[in-house]
Amino acid sequence: MSQTLQAVRGMNDILPEEAEIWENFEDIVRDWLKGYGYRPLRMPILEPEPLFRRAIGEVTDIVEKEMYAFEDALNGERLALRPEGTAGCVRAAIQHNLVAAGGPQRLYYQGPMFRHERPQKGRYRQFHQIGVEALGFAGPDIDAELIIMGARLWGQLGFSDVKLEINSLGSTEERARHRAALVAYFESNRDSLDEDSQRRLLANPLRILDSKNPAMQEIIEAAPKLAEYLGDESREHFEALQALLGEAGVTWRLNHRLVRGLDYYNRTVFEWVSGRLGAQGTVCAGGRYDGLVSQLGGKPMPAAGFAMGVERLLALWREGGEVEYAVERPIPHVYVVNNGEQAQRLAFRAAEVLRDIGLDVLLHCGGGSFKSQMKKADASGAILALVIGEDEAAVSEVAIKPLRMGGEQRRIPFRDLAETVAGSLYEIEPLPEDIEFGVGAGVKNGSV
Ligand code: ATP
Ligand code: MG
Repeated sequence: MSQTLQAVRGMNDILPEEAEIWENFEDIVRDWLKGYGYRPLRMPILEPEPLFRRAIGEVTDIVEKEMYAFEDALNGERLALRPEGTAGCVRAAIQHNLVAAGGPQRLYYQGPMFRHERPQKGRYRQFHQIGVEALGFAGPDIDAELIIMGARLWGQLGFSDVKLEINSLGSTEERARHRAALVAYFESNRDSLDEDSQRRLLANPLRILDSKNPAMQEIIEAAPKLAEYLGDESREHFEALQALLGEAGVTWRLNHRLVRGLDYYNRTVFEWVSGRLGAQGTVCAGGRYDGLVSQLGGKPMPAAGFAMGVERLLALWREGGEVEYAVERPIPHVYVVNNGEQAQRLAFRAAEVLRDIGLDVLLHCGGGSFKSQMKKADASGAILALVIGEDEAAVSEVAIKPLRMGGEQRRIPFRDLAETVAGSLYEIEPLPEDIEFGVGAGVKNGSV
């Protein structure tokens, strides 16, 4: 016997009951994004590996430890499964000249991302992000918009415990001065650094602030703060952002240690964190990345964005959003029961006629007695069953049996099907407008 195959560890199947909730969530998200003028972009899941090395930074968890990178066996090209979306989004914008041709762009994408992490609740190897990127905007106004729109989404989903943390990373030069101070400080405390941090001390000392090692927290807390190294422009940008947030009624906490795990950020960085998800509490994170476009070969262009973790948001929603998390299983209007060859042909046509007028129809497939089919019709929750046997088919008739309301089964001519079904359903729920009955309805090349 051959061994049963399993999904790759940390990569999940999303089964229909759950996937319907995902679609519901995606509908809410799409409407929300439309409300702010963001437009969709779909990028490939595979990108050239160097894209991520250049964008995210060599000395980062993602590039050092988490990336699924490999050689294309057919042509030797180095490829990577995307660990995040910003790099690919910016690559696409440069490649297609989006901003030069169309002015500043508000874009979003959604889909799976891949990181080789230790799987646990809220942390998977294939996970999903919805990413929002605003390209070509320099001011703190767009930073504010990106944050305010997050607050609106949490409201719509009924989350009241998602808290905002913000920080400013300043400019490259400001970070360089802070970095020198940081290196001096950590060097004088070298013995208290863990192995990772010792290695990063010279390569990327800012990353040490991001360390989650409990033993490191005290020394990190006392380290020189970036805020003390900000120049006038960075400080003004950050203050203007806070004024706009205050105006909008958004509250935040300044977190001096918020540096984000990717190298491309400057000035504003932010995270939305829930207390209900344990260590995996960050549901949305982002910031400004003015240097990234030129770093990837484009004309210099300011930009900012964020990404949300879909699995974590859905976990929050499941565990107590005020808005209904579950969606009801879709119920067909009509279940078509059929038995016999000629009856089956007529059943197919009947089902299409009903779909033409906007109804959801389950056509019984797989044969079986009338009795067993009627059981399935009942269990489906359908309002009506259409019953077609050889007797009916022989004279181009169908039988209609109400399942959820009183009334007898009755036979009608096939040509009256759409109108009769629409009439009896109308008593229960209004049908879509613009329904055409009779001539032209149904399978176009069919005849009764
Ligand atoms: P963390 O600190 O939790 O590892 P991160 O800083 O690596 O997060 P980002 O790269 O900023 O995460 O990604 C944005 C969001 O995507 C995160 O806030 C989180 O909600 C989600 N996310 C990141 N990695 C994972 C993962 N492995 N599994 C599930 N969701 C994830
Ligand atoms: Mg991470």
